[in-house]
Amino acid sequence: MAGKNPGVSTRSKGAIKFSGLPSPLDKTEPPTFRQIIQYSYFLMNTYPHLSCYGISKLIANDVINIWKAVNPRLPLLNENSVVVKVNMLCFQKAKQINRKHLPAAQTKFWKEKIDTLFDISSCSCKLPILSCDNINVKCDKENCQTKHIICTCPLKRKVPTEDREYLKDQRSKIGPKGTFQLGPIDKTAIKKRKGEREIQQKTSPIESTSSIQDHVSPSTSLSHSSSPSDEADYIQPDSSLKVPYNLTKIPRFALELVRGDISSNLGASLGNALLLDLRAMALI
Ligand SMILES: [Zn+2]
Ligand SMILES: [Zn+2]
Repeated sequence: MAGKNPGVSTRSKGAIKFSGLPSPLDKTEPPTFRQIIQYSYFLMNTYPHLSCYGISKLIANDVINIWKAVNPRLPLLNENSVVVKVNMLCFQKAKQINRKHLPAAQTKFWKEKIDTLFDISSCSCKLPILSCDNINVKCDKENCQTKHIICTCPLKRKVPTEDREYLKDQRSKIGPKGTFQLGPIDKTAIKKRKGEREIQQKTSPIESTSSIQDHVSPSTSLSHSSSPSDEADYIQPDSSLKVPYNLTKIPRFALELVRGDISSNLGASLGNALLLDLRAMALI
């Protein structure tokens, strides 16, 4: 039936066995391995003439954008590394498993891993929780209630203190939803945020510099709280910005956003990430 495209037919037919049916990507949270593989099947069906590399690139871009949108401050792997990681998963491991070319132990390993986070953060440590008297913490607060999560990675790849719990939660989740995203409250928050953005976009359609500033709420609390409602805020870039921000105008950056037709939402995320990176490197 697919005489004209035997290669394509074989590829998608063989691939659907491992990890489930083709499915578009849920853009509201960082995906699991399973979601990435299912998305690769979906893209293979949608764009049958795209190469494995082309599909890996599309997936990598989407995944990076999701991570930047849900938490603009997390240090991420560079794009090439993500493409390689996607390609390895979707077009090497999944294919080998489907063709039963992978040793049983490795197949078991991948099947167990399938519903965990496809992690593209550049932090490679385990984000250990240490006690106040640990040499890496050195906290002398009386009756301290803080959960000291430490990132032992080098400065360039270090996760900001207030984002460690979020990343740790994402890494420990099984299945698509982490504890930071459970329940209907979050969905309402997402809708609300979307509504706010639309209003923002209507009132300031192109001003990228001001939209970056708009995302930095001046009333943002500097204190760290772990109440449930604050946990839900971790998924909202707007309200998760709990560090003082540099509000310097960056007109060249803004101009490039306008030129590239980048949405104010993505522009704000990129801008925030860039400013934080520069500050982490002590350049501003
Ligand atoms: Zn402490
Ligand atoms: Zn780390």
